[in-house]
Amino acid sequence: MDLGKNASRDHLDSGFDRYQAVRHRLPAIPRQGACRRAANLAEISEHFDALLLDAFGVLNIGQAAVPGSPERIEQLQASGKRAMVVSNAAGFPHSAIVERLGGLGYRFDSDDIITSRKALLAGLAKESPRHWGMAAGEVFGPEEFGDLDFTRLGDDPEIYEKAEGFLFVGASAWNDHRQARLIDTLKRRPRPFWVANPDLMAPQENGFSTEPGTYGHAIAEATGIVPEFYGKPFGNIYELALAHLGADFDPDRVLMVGDTLHTDILGGLAAGIQTALVVDTGVLAGSDIEAAIEASGIAPDWILERP
Ligand SMILES: [Mg+2]
Repeated sequence: MDLGKNASRDHLDSGFDRYQAVRHRLPAIPRQGACRRAANLAEISEHFDALLLDAFGVLNIGQAAVPGSPERIEQLQASGKRAMVVSNAAGFPHSAIVERLGGLGYRFDSDDIITSRKALLAGLAKESPRHWGMAAGEVFGPEEFGDLDFTRLGDDPEIYEKAEGFLFVGASAWNDHRQARLIDTLKRRPRPFWVANPDLMAPQENGFSTEPGTYGHAIAEATGIVPEFYGKPFGNIYELALAHLGADFDPDRVLMVGDTLHTDILGGLAAGIQTALVVDTGVLAGSDIEAAIEASGIAPDWILERP
């Protein structure tokens, strides 16, 4: 990771505060973990049978692998541990994520990669059809959305007016102008608004990107319309992952591994599984972990230096 400690810390301060500011829209904390310290997953492997792995900050930073992670995960898989990915990546076609993780040296079955896009699709499958306006980035691939009736949100005001609901799956093509237009149309005529990536930000090679959660919460503040969130820390993505894992696994021996207290760890605790916070390779690198845990009240079962 090519981030200076100061840059990382500065960002954490604002990012942490921003997550704290939206806590009332996040799940409640059912329990506190014991915050036991270990160097990495190999040291605590006797305590779990299955891993749910966050991607950004644990498996990859932007387009690069977290150094040592592919080897570590491979060792654990070879020793019989089940490893799945649980990622708030909604803005990419599934094939692109499978390909990217494969290219970084990871070996996951395509079905073992659970994303907030899959959680959204599961939600849409239960919903009656309507015409959606969709905020998505350039890399959005429509094929998994089948015959869903939607139009991409751009600069044409009519698309916003005609939409019967809004889906937010990617922020890379979003801007203040489009955000203002969406807020305006929702204020005048409230409609359902779903956000398929609750993350506020994601670590990239050179800093942090703004993710759909940031816009979703800002829209909630401006309009009073609380979005339906799909992805961590919300239960829908954990339900999908645990259903795919199957009933053979004891939840007390399933470990969510992530670098973010307010998504991975909060979501894992709320889902009734074990949690491990990775501190040296993700968003918390260089920060005061104890202070972050105390201030948030989100205490993981384990604190690991690295995956
Ligand atoms: Mg992460």
